[in-house]
Amino acid sequence: MDDFDGKVALITGGARGQGRSHAVAFAERGADVVICDRSEDSASVFYPLATEEDLAETARLVEAAGRRCIAVKADTADRPAMDALVARAESEFGRVDIAVANAGVSVASPVQSMTTAQWTEAINSNLTGVFNTIGAVAPGMIERRYGRIVTISSMLGRAGSTNMAAYSASKWGVIGLTKSSALDLAQFGITANVIAPGNISTPMIHNDALYSMMRPDLEAPTRDDVAPVFESLHAQPVPWLEPEEITRAVLFFAAEASAHISGTVLPIDAGNAARVT
Ligand code: NAD
Repeated sequence: MDDFDGKVALITGGARGQGRSHAVAFAERGADVVICDRSEDSASVFYPLATEEDLAETARLVEAAGRRCIAVKADTADRPAMDALVARAESEFGRVDIAVANAGVSVASPVQSMTTAQWTEAINSNLTGVFNTIGAVAPGMIERRYGRIVTISSMLGRAGSTNMAAYSASKWGVIGLTKSSALDLAQFGITANVIAPGNISTPMIHNDALYSMMRPDLEAPTRDDVAPVFESLHAQPVPWLEPEEITRAVLFFAAEASAHISGTVLPIDAGNAARVT
């Protein structure tokens, strides 16, 4: 199932976190890897995003696994940039077989005080970015009659939450976008599936700003202080999961053998799915 010898996998937001875990896992299983990352902070995002050094480090890890890597600083919200990235991958590596639309940001504000900039940031990065990724890879996949598309939503793509109107709306959108793409692409040998993670141990959740939002009663909350709050969002008694747990599912959907699994949503959220209709 986990043999990707000779395949080409594109992962957005590949500089760190879950994206890096996916990139390295594909390389270790024989795939050449294409990654992009914005590698730049956003005024609307309350924690630092990845750096160009992070992007270079993922490329180094892919190459250390013996595979080729194209690593480009690009924003998924920029359609011409995504088209150019795919064109380069097709020219240098021959094709893109697998696309993992992983890039995303979290913005936080009560809806009544959310700025247009915050709303636009979440929708651009989390929803339009996924559309641009699918749109960029689809023509080549259709031509070759083969493709595996995996998108990343969230447990907040299946529920609402305080302070999370923009994030939640964008992640619900990813599910509708992916299911509709699965139908449009069904006749071309292309699958599209969604993963809906719970709390994953990456810089998106491990940052001082989010810690303070989760423990407003403390001046400088630590990882230990916020763990019980994160844990309450799951059903199983675990505050966060490791990126590799999401990677396992990405590899499953991306496998050639998963040809007839399409349009599905897989929650990996320590049992919180049991609470969602
Ligand atoms: P992360 O912040 O470590 O990684 C996200 C990466 O995406 C960063 O490297 C960032 O620079 C990049 N990025 C952000 N916007 C971009 C854009 N417009 N174009 C290109 N790159 C961009 O966080 P992560 O946990 O690895 O997040 C991966 C995905 O998982 C995201 O879509 C996120 O919404 C989703 N997710 C995360 C959690 C969690 O608890 N960490 C939970 C559910 C879903």
